[in-house]
Amino acid sequence: MSVHVENCIIIGSGPAGWSAAIYAARANLKPLLFEGAMTEENRVMGRYPMGQLAQTTEVENYAGFPTGKIKVFLESAIDSDRHYMLPPIEEHPHAVTGPELMELMRQQATNFGTRVITDDIVSVDLSGKPFQLNTSESGSFQAHTIIIATGASANYLGLPSEEVFRNKGVSACAVCDGALPRFRNKPLVVVGGGDSAVEEASYLTKYASKVHMILRRGEMRASKIMQQRALDNPKIELVKFSVVDEVLGDANDMRVGVTGVRVKNVDTGTTTVLEAAGMFLAIGHTPNTNFLSGQVEKHANGYIRWTQPYRTITSVEGVFAAGDVADDYYRQAITSAGTGCMAALDAERYLAGVGVH
Ligand SMILES: Cc1cc2nc3c(=O)[nH]c(=O)nc-3n(C[C@H](O)[C@H](O)[C@H](O)COP(=O)(O)OP(=O)(O)OC[C@H]3O[C@@H](n4cnc5c(N)ncnc54)[C@H](O)[C@@H]3O)c2cc1C
Repeated sequence: MSVHVENCIIIGSGPAGWSAAIYAARANLKPLLFEGAMTEENRVMGRYPMGQLAQTTEVENYAGFPTGKIKVFLESAIDSDRHYMLPPIEEHPHAVTGPELMELMRQQATNFGTRVITDDIVSVDLSGKPFQLNTSESGSFQAHTIIIATGASANYLGLPSEEVFRNKGVSACAVCDGALPRFRNKPLVVVGGGDSAVEEASYLTKYASKVHMILRRGEMRASKIMQQRALDNPKIELVKFSVVDEVLGDANDMRVGVTGVRVKNVDTGTTTVLEAAGMFLAIGHTPNTNFLSGQVEKHANGYIRWTQPYRTITSVEGVFAAGDVADDYYRQAITSAGTGCMAALDAERYLAGVGVH
């Protein structure tokens, strides 16, 4: 019995996956998208369906969504059986929230015929054509092309208090959240000492009254030029030989949220409380690529490598990568959506080239 071979399987349900699906569906590729499984493990690891944006509140920088009264639009655009995925839709003017934006993208993709399976791809075999994909609970599938859009998960410290205040003062994205009113003209904490920690701290000084950078060692890991940037910034203060012990605040009144961070000196064990309205993690991201078991070439830092500039082509012909899983630099919803579109166009052209579609 011959097994049905899909034209295009998309793995991942963030902006990259849904944008790829919209383009692939409109090109009549009849894409099949795996959005991830709704498991506790995925929730804890930041890999829950609908991507990283589903973990955040308002998204103020996604083009096309200025603050406004979008309740009527949301209710009319999104199928009612998906409303349960949304936070209560507010009457008052607001910028689109992450969950709302993701539901809109999902709806747009399914409107054009994208089929969606709520499951994880757990392994793939890319050694022959068609490709083989194995899921956690839905069996195996075959495809002529694959678009990998599985994103990356921000690394957190793993403290219970950090979890309590996540998105209510604790964030892993300064560019995304730094301008929020709760952080303006207030002291903040950045955890990490690499280049991206300096980037985040420098960015936050535009809004914050002061930024404490928590360094485990006596110096930053950042490049010399970035170290100098931090040292030259009068608003950045280094807190050396220290680790975060606990995030402090009012968990019962989230309008208050984070009020401070207790840090512990790694040499003496003494603790100090730093006044802070927020804590930003800058200790790296982990791209979600385990299921590939090394079959697609990656950079040394684990991100999938595009083998041609400005193309989403990977080391395996017919396999494309989009979004944060292949981007350790921009890591924004709109750039992910852009590369998702590129991957679908690349897949379509590849299929035409091999005479499949
Ligand atoms: C708290 C927070 C706030 C942010 N705020 C903003 C903002 O305001 N503006 C902005 O532009 N960016 C923001 N970002 C960054 C933005 O969310 C990311 O750049 C963007 O979501 C990346 O999109 P993506 O499609 O590449 O992947 P992701 O959004 O990471 O989605 C990938 C998804 O694919 C699924 N998946 C993973 N592995 C598998 C598998 N094996 N099988 C099936 N499915 C799988 C999971 O559901 C995973 O969540 C924020 C990020 C965070 C964490």
